[in-house]
Amino acid sequence: MFENHLPTEELQALDAAHHMHPFTDGSALNKKGARVITAAKGVWLTDSDGNRILDAMAGLWCVNIGYGRPEMAEAAKRQIEQLSFYNTFFQTTHVPAVTLAAKLAQIAPGDLNHVHFANSGSEANDTNLRLVRHYWAAKGKPTKRIVIGRWNGYHGSTMGSGSLGGMKFMHAQGGMPIPDVAHIEQPDWWMQGGDSDPADFGLARAKQLEEKILELGQDNVAAFIAEPIQGSGGVIVPPATYWPEIQRICAHYDVLLIADEVITGFGRTGKWFGSQTLDLRPDIMTIAKGMSSGYAPIGASLLSDNVANTINDAGEFNHGYTYAAHPLSAALALENIRILEDEKIVDHVANVAAPYLREKWEGLIDHPLVGDASIVGLMGSIRMTPDKAARAKFKSDEGTAGYICRERCFANNLVMRHVGDRMVISPPLVITKAEIDQFIDRAVQSLDETHAKLKADGLMVAA
Ligand SMILES: *Cc1c(COP(=O)(O)O)cnc(C)c1O
Repeated sequence: MFENHLPTEELQALDAAHHMHPFTDGSALNKKGARVITAAKGVWLTDSDGNRILDAMAGLWCVNIGYGRPEMAEAAKRQIEQLSFYNTFFQTTHVPAVTLAAKLAQIAPGDLNHVHFANSGSEANDTNLRLVRHYWAAKGKPTKRIVIGRWNGYHGSTMGSGSLGGMKFMHAQGGMPIPDVAHIEQPDWWMQGGDSDPADFGLARAKQLEEKILELGQDNVAAFIAEPIQGSGGVIVPPATYWPEIQRICAHYDVLLIADEVITGFGRTGKWFGSQTLDLRPDIMTIAKGMSSGYAPIGASLLSDNVANTINDAGEFNHGYTYAAHPLSAALALENIRILEDEKIVDHVANVAAPYLREKWEGLIDHPLVGDASIVGLMGSIRMTPDKAARAKFKSDEGTAGYICRERCFANNLVMRHVGDRMVISPPLVITKAEIDQFIDRAVQSLDETHAKLKADGLMVAA
């Protein structure tokens, strides 16, 4: 690997002076200095001090095939030499766009046969917001405009996608949500289920969609958007009763279902799409992240025959992005899908990595700090608690224990993310059993150290 960079402190100083980080307290980070990542291969990152770090987050939930694949470098070189850019506006197309659209139609479930490209998950969801309203207008029902999302759902960070999401700390800044977006509660039994049975709770949460539709009026509701399994919200796995009831309600009230599969797509749950794992039949699917394994920015909306035909028959849809289906991104998405297929990586998740990790992950429930351990495929979470039996939160601010644990993981050369006091994981899909062993060893070590620190600081106290 190259080491043609400035010393760590100089990089950190320049970063602090000039680089504003996403979702970061800039002034706190600038005092401390960011960790500088210089290289990566497989599931391993290297930082500027030469540490090798096990990345149990696959970057940001996206590096499904692992880092640094030479075939991807070759595909990028080939495409740039062949056609570095052309757009798909004004009645033109190009080979990577056509090939990728056809490939996505082939692997997507049901009749999601049509692709509208974007450069990220946020953009694709902004497209979806406009698209469902345009769809209903084309159907002669222009009052069907409201899109219902969920509190603590995540759909991106633009004005539209951030509004569809239900992150209250995001809404608190900059004037979100925009009008004609509504939210219902998430199916988080551990946190919100009280004394109820999980199955009853799942059903009750789904029924909130029906109540919201009736409150707003069926003639005013265009679509419901949700992640099959919430990712950034903390890898919240819904009770099994939840999705069938949501599906019934959407069909009954003529409300389009948008499955945001930006994380759950491309093998993460042990099937190609989370909709297959959870048995959903969406009208629209949002994809990004694992679509190119993060080798280049790309996202898309996959549309059913009905939705696409309605849009196509309604004349021009006045919408699009310069770099939609960018030849480089499309070529890399295609090569990524080829690798997933040829190396049977989705089967590796379903038959090898996920069952092996599941046993160890669920075993963490025996740790004194862990009150819940959930996992589907290779996305999982553990909830830390000062009192398991009571499913208690900490008395300290939500996220205090999570932050400590993340720091301990960092110190042990492991990347796990914290969402409040939940720790979440989403490792590259190519992770081996030996790497899973190393991962769990480091996770347990980090949990032990977190537990010791919480006790020493008097923080093992229930709210
Ligand atoms: C990351 C994410 C997005 C946003 O994607 P970007 O590429 O960051 O814009 C949307 N939906 C879900 C479920 C995500 O996890």
